[in-house]
Amino acid sequence: MLDPLSLALGAGLVGAGWALGRFGRRPARDTPIVARCGCGHDLSMHDPEKGVCHTEIRRKTIGGLHEWVACGCRRYTGPQPIEELFSRPILPPTD
Ligand SMILES: [Zn+2]
Ligand SMILES: [Zn+2]
Repeated sequence: MLDPLSLALGAGLVGAGWALGRFGRRPARDTPIVARCGCGHDLSMHDPEKGVCHTEIRRKTIGGLHEWVACGCRRYTGPQPIEELFSRPILPPTD
């Protein structure tokens, strides 16, 4: 016969283990930082010279229809990725 105290203790241990497994882990932050503009679009969507955003956004018209319009962003305002840092291959010392 199972006594209620050991049952509760067992349940508590299971709960604690579950909580540790769920909350003890560090949040997945390993995703690369995307250079994103204030308009919400990636740097790659912006003209490298003029800076205007080429992304088309779906807009609802007055008639209830949708139309595609170019993003109104005129200049990229997000963080500038240091491309050199990432494009340079990391090689071990040769000597
Ligand atoms: Zn933009
Ligand atoms: Zn945009």
